[in-house]
Amino acid sequence: MFMPATVVVGAQFGDEGKGKVVDCLAERALVVARFNGGSNAGHTVKVGDKAFKFHLIPSGILHRDKVCVIGNGVVVDPPLLVEELRDLEERGYPTELLRVSERAHVVMPYHRTLDALEEALKGDQAAGTTRRGIGPAYEDKAARVGLRMVDLLDEEVLREKLRVVAPMKERLLRAYGGKEAVDQGRLFEEYSALGAKLRDYVCDTSALVNEALDGGREVLLEGAQGSLIDVDFGIYPYGTSSSCIAGGACAGVGIGPTRITRVVGVVKAFTSRVGTGPFPTEIPDNSVADHLRTTGGGEYGTTTGRPRRVGWLDGPMLRLSHRVNGFTSLAVTKMDVLGGLKKIKVCVAYDLGGKRTTEFPASTKALEACRPVYREFEGWDAMDQEEVRRIAARGYAALPEEARDYLAFLSELVGVPIEKVGIGPGREDTIDLGT
Ligand code: GDP
Repeated sequence: MFMPATVVVGAQFGDEGKGKVVDCLAERALVVARFNGGSNAGHTVKVGDKAFKFHLIPSGILHRDKVCVIGNGVVVDPPLLVEELRDLEERGYPTELLRVSERAHVVMPYHRTLDALEEALKGDQAAGTTRRGIGPAYEDKAARVGLRMVDLLDEEVLREKLRVVAPMKERLLRAYGGKEAVDQGRLFEEYSALGAKLRDYVCDTSALVNEALDGGREVLLEGAQGSLIDVDFGIYPYGTSSSCIAGGACAGVGIGPTRITRVVGVVKAFTSRVGTGPFPTEIPDNSVADHLRTTGGGEYGTTTGRPRRVGWLDGPMLRLSHRVNGFTSLAVTKMDVLGGLKKIKVCVAYDLGGKRTTEFPASTKALEACRPVYREFEGWDAMDQEEVRRIAARGYAALPEEARDYLAFLSELVGVPIEKVGIGPGREDTIDLGT
């Protein structure tokens, strides 16, 4: 029997609420696998009144019976992984079902230092990274001087690799104005000890995922970050270093593209982002921005705590996102946050130098010059907790008519059906349209 895999990706800048969508979809899956990014990602999942924040471990771990995979496309920060494992164990969640790819690259302390130094040197072209060393770890992967999880398990290999890499990194750090030495001996001690702690979790996860699929089991592939910060199709250079789009799932977990038949794009009902870079539909600091950021929005980065910039939905952006991901359905989150606004806008095209376009430009300069052309929608009343639960129980038809109009337009704009609508942070605050 052959079972296809489902990919869940962010359609915007990340923080769309993928964690909750994955959590809902994980119900039927045997394996939940992450395929990109590192500890710069942050999922928040609320189960009952408990909030869980994950940077590395797939949130599927909360189901207790899922095999959770950190794929080869992820860059792993071992001390952080050990800490997340400890936290889960202390809160009574078993971790034996976690598996980490032996091919996943390791984020080293010098990557963090380099991240901060590189960002400082880039000035106004800084990507606004989380300074967690993710970019430099991917740089080393591509430059073939990275360390992989499998290297931490073999003292001889680790020592030999560090012998070559540590002096290279020290030179680089010094050239960039760094002061710290890269202590080979200390790194060896620390990372071989971490390897020993993690040994039981490390394996060939590509084989594991393919076996599950061959055995007719469902596999859920969870993307971190979002399509608009993807290294190829995001707003370059104001993005991340990994492949965040659906295709990245194949290389990042080790499966063939024919395995994937379902791609769920998670779209926040408005747009938000942390960090710098062009943002055509950004709302200047006013009461509407305030509403979106604070009224139930909680628009502060999970990893950085930075307030997010907020704006209206962006049609050309979502069209690009669909083009490069091939969404088969959308999960729209945070519809509740729009409640209470009188008017809601959606950007349907850009005006670029007097010409109308629905394409999202590759040139950052052109993007800066784009003026959004909006279509305005009637708002709906704010929903209190009781109202949210009532609507979630009764389903789509119970949503205010204006909210349904907005969703129908969004589905038409992207050209993809909507399968889930989020109207609150909880797992249960989700309307399933059963697509
Ligand atoms: P992710 O990285 O895409 O999983 O996003 P984050 O976890 O950083 O941010 C999502 C936040 O939005 C979390 O705090 C969720 O609890 C919350 N959230 C998810 N869906 C909804 C929704 O439909 N409504 C509201 N109000 N909050 C939501």
